[in-house]
Amino acid sequence: MALETYRAKRDFRRTPEPRGAKVARRARRPSFVVQKHAARQLHYDFRLELDGVLVSWAVPKGPSLNPADKRLAMHVEDHPLEYAGFEGVIPEGEYGGGTVMLWDQGVWIPRGDPVIGYRDGHLKFTLEGKKLKGSWALVRTRGSRYGGKEGRDGWVPVKA
Ligand code: MN
Repeated sequence: MALETYRAKRDFRRTPEPRGAKVARRARRPSFVVQKHAARQLHYDFRLELDGVLVSWAVPKGPSLNPADKRLAMHVEDHPLEYAGFEGVIPEGEYGGGTVMLWDQGVWIPRGDPVIGYRDGHLKFTLEGKKLKGSWALVRTRGSRYGGKEGRDGWVPVKA
């Protein structure tokens, strides 16, 4: 988990997004955040703090509270911890140009080792947010794999 891809995609002279500086460490109460991102296509960015970064997914329709509802979440590059507080306007023409607003935030409580769960494509956790609460799973879809071609790493968040 590292921020090279995040930084390579952005021009920090032009975007107000944080470059990221915090030192990686394992948090006792790791945070999660969901940002509503009105980019070319509206989507929700779901981010979990893990080992000093925010591991991230873009969920086109947003997470569903209905356990029967299976929505795709595309795994995207790790974001810096500072991104959890970010709201603002990314200029048009820049990567992800559009408005970012905080939609929910809180802490997440992994069940089992989250690094192994993330690697193996099966995270189970509890969310303590304002909108999202309770048991969730985030499962990599068959055929996707971590480190695969960009845009091809599909996961599904499910409310348990
Ligand atoms: Mn986004």
